[in-house]
Amino acid sequence: MRYLILSDIHANWEALGAVVADSAGSFDQVLCCGDLVGYGADPNLSVEWVRANCAAVVRGNHDKACTGLDDLEWFNPIARTAALWTAQVLTPENADYARALPKGPVTLGGFEIVHGSALDEDEYVLGPAEAEQAFFYMENRVEFFGHTHVQGGFLWNRSRVEILHRVATRSNKQLLEIDPGCAYMINPGSIGQPRDGDPRAAYAVYDTDAGMVTYRRVAYDVAGAQKKIRDAGLPPILADRLAAGR
Ligand code: ZN
Repeated sequence: MRYLILSDIHANWEALGAVVADSAGSFDQVLCCGDLVGYGADPNLSVEWVRANCAAVVRGNHDKACTGLDDLEWFNPIARTAALWTAQVLTPENADYARALPKGPVTLGGFEIVHGSALDEDEYVLGPAEAEQAFFYMENRVEFFGHTHVQGGFLWNRSRVEILHRVATRSNKQLLEIDPGCAYMINPGSIGQPRDGDPRAAYAVYDTDAGMVTYRRVAYDVAGAQKKIRDAGLPPILADRLAAGR
């Protein structure tokens, strides 16, 4: 089975469209590690695409915040403004869908998906110290996570945690062979708001038969997404940061 692994779409329709086109024919099922909405200007299009195409989805903190499940006091003022805007424009059907998304981990054929970590759906696993703790809570040896918007992740090699690196900026893909004796926390990266210094949309494909993960990056119409954010009256920094990938 080949899974297209998406995360942190954040209502960026231009980025999602580029990923859909780039990944065509390379997968059997689509999974999403959460944050369908928040920050970007196309929450309804993004949720409708996920509803129609994803076999399994876990909720992200923005999915909760934009549908009244979480207190906005945990959000910085920019994220809070975007969440309030999103709550206003989401259709009732799309809001109901986002509100009903399950909390991770969700286990599929021998692996699991979460938003933050298996320990805490809202945890940011940014370094080996957080990863080392989170590995203990996994029920499968392979886990896909999001939330940090940093492509890569972590490998537990039976004695210590190693960092998995993202696709190099001069390339558009990178392979990771799964060693069945190790454990993996794999971040496909963010589609709609990358924060790892590479503005290209990020995703991954997991081929469970081959035991292979392919990290991918694809350029998209950043200017188009930025214009929609500005035209919607969302905080301008949400448009600016897309060009920097930070
Ligand atoms: Zn996110």
